[in-house]
Amino acid sequence: MLQGMRVVDLTIPLGPNTIMWPGAPEPTFENLTSIKNDGYFARIVSFFEHTGTHFDAPSHFIEGHNTVDKFPAEKLVRPAVVIDISERIGDDADGELTLADVHAFESAHGEMPHEAAILLRTGWERFNNDVRKYAGEPGKTRFPGFGAEAARFLVEERKAVGLGTDTLGIDPGYATDYPVHSTISHPKGLWHLENLTNLSQLPPLGAWVIVGVLPLVDGSGSPARVIALLP
Ligand SMILES: [Zn+2]
Repeated sequence: MLQGMRVVDLTIPLGPNTIMWPGAPEPTFENLTSIKNDGYFARIVSFFEHTGTHFDAPSHFIEGHNTVDKFPAEKLVRPAVVIDISERIGDDADGELTLADVHAFESAHGEMPHEAAILLRTGWERFNNDVRKYAGEPGKTRFPGFGAEAARFLVEERKAVGLGTDTLGIDPGYATDYPVHSTISHPKGLWHLENLTNLSQLPPLGAWVIVGVLPLVDGSGSPARVIALLP
């Protein structure tokens, strides 16, 4: 036990039932050896880089920009700012973080720290065993996310290092031109975390997030074990 610290796991387990982006290939798991036959058990696992709780590197949208392995560990251990819009948006699948939400957060809690990880709680994790509700339809995705104006403020004025949320994507599902990914956040070198869980257990300020992403060489993203530490 870390003295005086509480640990919260923000990760969805990665298995055959992990919810996927509509139409994305599902992970596969193959037993390579068994203890009975070989003396040890091991599998071969194959997954889309954007499966389950995962990390997006800027190279996901920006040609030639940083790949997953290019992030030094100090960029992956960050103070967490947790903005909760779940009550305001309710069941609205087109709900998004607005600049007014960010201003309301800072009125209540003071100016957020710079170079933090901004984690958006929409409450959508409650649907993550129901692909229609969580994701929408193939070619017609619907889920909440970061509005472009709010994202621009967080990137430019608050110098955020990363953005994370409890939905399939940082951009809301309806925004099929992905403005945050393609023009606001990744071009500035920010990372993203998608399909987080348990954000309700974090305070608005004061937690730290540890992004345990695989340093896949040349990767566009990777599943990640994401852990929060609370004082
Ligand atoms: Zn992704």
